[in-house]
Amino acid sequence: MKRRETALPKPCLCVHCGARLDASTNLDNEEDAPEAGDYSMCLHCGCILVYTPDLIVRRAELEDLAKLSKETLLLLMRAQAAQQAVQGQLAAMKKPETKQ
Ligand SMILES: [Zn+2]
Repeated sequence: MKRRETALPKPCLCVHCGARLDASTNLDNEEDAPEAGDYSMCLHCGCILVYTPDLIVRRAELEDLAKLSKETLLLLMRAQAAQQAVQGQLAAMKKPETKQ
C-alpha cells in the first residue's frame, strides 16, 4: 500500500543529519497534514522531531517524549531500529569487498 505524502509548506533541514525534509506521511490518517506539536521522524537518520507553529521541525526533547504513551514510544523505537537497519544494509552494499 502506497501512502500519500503531504508537501510541507516550508521545506526544512533535519536538525540532526541536515537532510532536506520537504514532505511528511501521516500514519494515522493520510488525509491529515502535520500540525504544530505533531511528532515526526527523519527517515534519513531516525531523529524524532516535533513540528513547530511554523511547521518546520525541531528535535524532540525529553519533555516532549515524556508526553507520549508507552505504545507510541515503542512504535517510534521500532521505527528507529528499522530505519537504522536499512541504513546499515545500504552502507554495507556501498562498501567495496575486501580480498583475503
Ligand atoms: Zn535526519
